[in-house]
Parts: sequence; structure tokens; C-alpha cells
Amino acid sequence: MKSNIKIVEKQGNSEGKKLVVLVGVHGNEVCGVKAADFLLPKLKIEFGKVTFIYANLEAIKQNKRFVDQNLNRCFLNQQSLDIEKSLEGRTAKGIIPYLEEADALLDIHASLTKDSVPFVICDESNIETAKILGAKKIVCNIDKFHPGSTDGYMNLQNKPGFCFECGYANDSKTQTVAEGAIISFLTYYGCIESKINQSNNKSELIKIIDSYRNRYGSFKSKRYFKDFEKMIEKTLIGLDGNREVFVDKGQLVLFVRDREKINEECFLVGEEV
Ligand SMILES: [Zn+2]
Repeated sequence: MKSNIKIVEKQGNSEGKKLVVLVGVHGNEVCGVKAADFLLPKLKIEFGKVTFIYANLEAIKQNKRFVDQNLNRCFLNQQSLDIEKSLEGRTAKGIIPYLEEADALLDIHASLTKDSVPFVICDESNIETAKILGAKKIVCNIDKFHPGSTDGYMNLQNKPGFCFECGYANDSKTQTVAEGAIISFLTYYGCIESKINQSNNKSELIKIIDSYRNRYGSFKSKRYFKDFEKMIEKTLIGLDGNREVFVDKGQLVLFVRDREKINEECFLVGEEV
């Protein structure tokens, strides 16, 4: 099989942390790919080793989220035989040895929701570190609702993993946001010497409390919901078949999507902490 990943390793002259930066896990979220293309030619690592992984070359080429299945749900401790049958399952298997070796991971994404602000997903134990990445919001407690993510795989090994969402995928600013997050990440772990912009460390913390999957039919959202939209009253989010799906006053929704197939992720529910 032609490899579906491209690896660029940058070795420092002195001992230090081993970091992995992932881009292109979702092939149509190109900001990470562009940021890596831009940074790599001039990036000099002083300490440790940084491995950039372009993660789903076929999906990047086709400008699609994925080819067979969501790569960011394929990083499970117990790899099932089913996963081996998909391009993304085999791709995850190729990436896992790098995650096993890494001290920390940064995985760059973008949202398909208009007006999405940059945010970072991480384990509760890594919130303080996440603040240096410069996101407006930090989202935690997502692993149990979205098992198999790259950052979740790191968390399973008690290592820091950060999924950085750079904003709306079709906004050209996301590349600059991605570059900033990568530089902050490499600086924080001491691989390069640079100044971290500390001015943006007042991040709001969001805890995910539920994930809605459709059970009765296709899911159709009632209207457009912004990521992190907070409900001012009990609100109808959409129809699951012909059943109404509500969230409570004060709760937030994230990634609200219409779904055709049964048991797909329709949206996440969160609370401000
Ligand atoms: Zn993504």
C-alpha cells in the first residue's frame, strides 16, 4: 500500500522533548498543512526532536474530511480488525508508533462551522499548558464521547495531547492561527527559543457533558447553531426522525450537524466551568 502519511523529522543538536505535530488528520481542514509547509523550511529545532506528520494524504488530495472513516476516531488502544479494513484505520496504525514515542502531541484542525473561534481540546490535567496555545476556549472531558482521537490516545498514556481548532476552515486567517499554535507548542516544551504571547491566556473553560447521536431516523437541525452557542432557555436543537431533541437552559452546543445515517454524532453538549 502506498503510504498515506508524510513524515518530516527535525532533530535538535541537544537533548530535549520529543514532540509530534499532526496536520491533515481531516483532509479538508488545510490550515495545518499550509502552516507546516510554511514553517518547516525555516524551522530550526535546538533541543529534542519534532516530528511533523501529514496524516491523511489521500483525503488531503481529495480535499475531503476522510476517505473511508474518520481518522480521528481510529486511535484506540485495542485496534479492532474492522479498523484494519479502512484506509484511515491503517493510517492510524502507521501514526501510532510516533505517538508512543512522543512526550506531547499537537494536532491541528479547523471547524466547518462559520464564526467558529479558535479553541483547544485537551484532558483536564493539561488545562494550564493549553492556555499557552492562545485559544479563546479550552474544551475538556471530550474523550469519553469521542473515543479514538489522536489527543485521546496520548491521554490514555497519561501524556499531553492537544487538538487545536483554528477557527472556520474557509477563513484564510486559520493558517496564521495554526502557525502561532505550533510555535507556542514548540516553545513551551523547549524545542525552540521564542516568545510565547501570554496576553491571550484568559481562556474560558468548557466541560463536555453529553454527545447526541440520532436513534430514530435522520437528524435535522432546527436552525444554524454557532459553536459554543449558549442556550438562554430550554431549546429545540433538531428532529431525530420525528422526535424533538432539546438542550437545557445554560448549556452550550458544539458541532451541530444534520445526519442521514443512524447513530452518528449530531452535536455535543457542554457547560461553562
Ligand atoms: Zn478536524
